[in-house]
Amino acid sequence: MRSSILIVGASIAGLTAAHWLARSGFTVTIAERSPGMRSGGNGVDLRGRAAEVIAGMGLAEQVRAAATDVIGMRFVDASDRVTAQVDTRMAGAVEIMRGDLVRLLASATAGVEVRFARGVTALTQEADSVTVTFDGGASERYDLVIGADGVHSAVRRLAFGPDERSTRFRGHYFAFADAGPDLGEPRWMTAFNQPGRMVGIYRAGRQAESKAYFVFRSAPLRYDRRDIAEQARIVRAAFAADADRRTWRVRELLDAAAADPFLYFDAVSQVRLTRWSTGRVVLIGDAAYCASPASGAGAELAVAGAHRLATELAAADGDHRAAFARYQATLEPFVRRRQRIGANLRMMVPRTEAGRRLRDGFTRLPFLTSLERRYDAA
Ligand SMILES: Cc1cc2nc3c(=O)[nH]c(=O)nc-3n(C[C@H](O)[C@H](O)[C@H](O)COP(=O)(O)OP(=O)(O)OC[C@H]3O[C@@H](n4cnc5c(N)ncnc54)[C@H](O)[C@@H]3O)c2cc1C
Repeated sequence: MRSSILIVGASIAGLTAAHWLARSGFTVTIAERSPGMRSGGNGVDLRGRAAEVIAGMGLAEQVRAAATDVIGMRFVDASDRVTAQVDTRMAGAVEIMRGDLVRLLASATAGVEVRFARGVTALTQEADSVTVTFDGGASERYDLVIGADGVHSAVRRLAFGPDERSTRFRGHYFAFADAGPDLGEPRWMTAFNQPGRMVGIYRAGRQAESKAYFVFRSAPLRYDRRDIAEQARIVRAAFAADADRRTWRVRELLDAAAADPFLYFDAVSQVRLTRWSTGRVVLIGDAAYCASPASGAGAELAVAGAHRLATELAAADGDHRAAFARYQATLEPFVRRRQRIGANLRMMVPRTEAGRRLRDGFTRLPFLTSLERRYDAA
């Protein structure tokens, strides 16, 4: 008989793992802390092996139909004149709004029980099982537990120790918010830089609504991760000088962020663990190897990693230790490549005005005008 598996987190990694594990005959349950699927977020990229996994789930056509048609990034000055632009489309890649991807993945796990409003609060490992305690005190036993609960994973904290051991702050914060209709140019991300900060508008051609996004350099900040109003104030403070001078559209975008009850704010941080599993507990997606939104690879790693783990578990004939070891050994080199984000950060958020001019000059070079390239999926 196949093992019973609890997946913690019903997002990109968790839903993908659930599909492939259920297909191989495992008994799968998902526990999600939120009361429903979380549909927020901007466009995310699916490419290379992640695109193949999606195709294997029978979702390729639906993903293509829902794909955004964004061409690339345009950098503008305070008068909205374009100073540089980069075509970010990549051969073989599809960009899709995160919420659309979550909805499609959920449709492909229809047979799997998802229990909403169920955060995990404790894990106790025994020789042949894991006892999981949920909010409210109820507990259940499973053969294996998969932590797919994102960059601030509770499973990681409970099974691997405090976040300080695994999470590396990369010197920036970011925020995404709904920005209302008719802002920005359809099919482009339009961005405005000041030294150490960037504010932009993301507008897919098919979507009437646009998204505001903010990235800024900062020392580590202390704040309550559940307090959206406090986070909106942090973003406003970081861009206060631009808002006060009514530079570009900064004030308008900050107002949008303050009005969005689902503002998504976080540190640009990465997760690096020596081991992605301990005993009967294993991590996938951002919980195990978050590369940060600056990588453009979060969804790709989540999908490819979830599938790799499911494949190894199906092949291991009950030997979860061997499956976990092969999962990490196979995927880790790919993860490390995707975690190299220094150049992306320098491109998006130059530290100085001279750096910004240099960036604009570089993007005018013919080979960089388009980033389109054959995709490195190895
Ligand atoms: C609302 C939202 C918006 C996002 N927007 C963007 C974006 O615009 N661009 C981008 O690049 N990336 C975005 N991300 C991150 C992106 O989804 C991930 O980088 C990537 O896709 C990997 O996905 P994941 O499934 O590993 O983690 P995530 O997508 O972060 O999902 C983790 C899931 O676990 C759940 N969870 C957390 N803690 C617990 C717990 N204790 N018990 C049970 N469930 C728990 C969360 O509610 C969530 O559903 C967003 C994530 C979220 C949650």
